[in-house]
Amino acid sequence: MTAGTLKARAMRRIVVVGNGIAGLTACDTLRAEGFDGELTVVGAEQHQPYSRPALSKALLHGSGGNLTAHHLPPPTHQATELLGVSAAGLDADARLLRLDDGRHLPYDGVVIASGARAKRPAGVPNARSSQLFTLRTIEDAVALKHRLAGRPSVIVMGGGPLGMEVASGCLDAGCQVTMVSNNAPLSRQLGGHVSGIFVAAAVQRGLRLVSSGRARVVAATGRPAGTNHDDGTGVALADGTVLRADIIVSAIGDEPNVEWLNGSGLLVDGTLQVDSRGRLRPDIVAAGDVAFFPTRLGLRRVPLWTSAIDQAKVAAAGLLKGDAGPEGDIQPYFWTEGFGLSLKAVGFTPVEGAPDYCEPGETGDSMLMRWDDAGWGTAAAVNYRIPIPKLRKLANQGPGALRPGEAAVHR
Ligand SMILES: Cc1cc2nc3c(=O)[nH]c(=O)nc-3n(C[C@H](O)[C@H](O)[C@H](O)COP(=O)(O)OP(=O)(O)OC[C@H]3O[C@@H](n4cnc5c(N)ncnc54)[C@H](O)[C@@H]3O)c2cc1C
Repeated sequence: MTAGTLKARAMRRIVVVGNGIAGLTACDTLRAEGFDGELTVVGAEQHQPYSRPALSKALLHGSGGNLTAHHLPPPTHQATELLGVSAAGLDADARLLRLDDGRHLPYDGVVIASGARAKRPAGVPNARSSQLFTLRTIEDAVALKHRLAGRPSVIVMGGGPLGMEVASGCLDAGCQVTMVSNNAPLSRQLGGHVSGIFVAAAVQRGLRLVSSGRARVVAATGRPAGTNHDDGTGVALADGTVLRADIIVSAIGDEPNVEWLNGSGLLVDGTLQVDSRGRLRPDIVAAGDVAFFPTRLGLRRVPLWTSAIDQAKVAAAGLLKGDAGPEGDIQPYFWTEGFGLSLKAVGFTPVEGAPDYCEPGETGDSMLMRWDDAGWGTAAAVNYRIPIPKLRKLANQGPGALRPGEAAVHR
């Protein structure tokens, strides 16, 4: 069955799986598009949707008891909310969603927005540990924040945006911080220029950088992690050296939450691949971190906040309107903060090679652009207060989109 071949049947009961930003946006969009039927949202977490980006920014960096940075306005979509409950299976032919508490929900349409989870280092058990942290949920953030109050020494594994934000937060908390990364931090996402600016600021604030391929978590004794959690934790580098610290924060990527769909017939090679309107079938759509969406560079997961929102709008409309719904045209946008710097970037990553256009400032401020051979642009701005629409225009049109001297006013 292909997404475009079946006529969308009347939608009276829609179930949204996942109560993150994609699930919330899907619910809001369904209502905005006129869906007035029975709407149910199933969320594994006990909470109302909250801002994950805030967990590694304001919440981690904020002092004292400021644990509200992640709050979002209360939902207005009037869905029935089943929180603390997970979808455990889906029978696409019978149109039944199975929950882990034994209930079955019949549906006419489903939005899959079950997001992603933090990837665990190989061989490390899933159990929460007082020495090994990941950062995906509010509980993770609160646990890490409380642990940092004791100023432990920290090893951060992974030099992507999340690892850098965590390292910055740990330094702010007064910890000694070592980052283990297999390439220069942020270089895989944004190339050497932006990486250089952030690394210089990080090192100046005391970050120790260690480069290693294939690092793995071990107990400080050298035994595999998990065999003895009381004797401290270490990271074994590719050359066999074991680094030790009081805690390890792993920021080595994420994994989509798709296991509950095993046996549903919806997965292709273990992945959820949707069409340009977010559809897997006319009655099932997917959006956000869980989904591979068609992009200008082919099918991709774009695990970013604004992409989750854009995709959820497209998918909700696709569920209600079928081919009459708009097609998605994802142009990634993300931001990051740390070490006294802020960065906004529009366009696909990784960015390779030297920037085609670079406007260096005096204090690490920088605006740069790079176009690939097909002409797709990426624009990044460090410490510029440039509005996102203007950054998008730069990525799409190049520096000609700026009048001479115009960028400087955003510094
Ligand atoms: C610490 C951190 C910082 C980040 N910073 C940035 C940033 O600065 N900029 C940026 O663009 N992006 C950032 N991101 C990424 C961004 O937060 C995600 O792209 C976005 O949250 C994805 O939204 P989502 O709704 O698709 O998935 P999620 O936010 O993962 O939400 C999915 C929800 O579904 C639930 N769920 C899972 N399985 C089931 C099931 N079987 N049944 C029911 N519910 C289920 C999950 O528990 C979760 O609550 C950050 C992420 C993290 C973790």
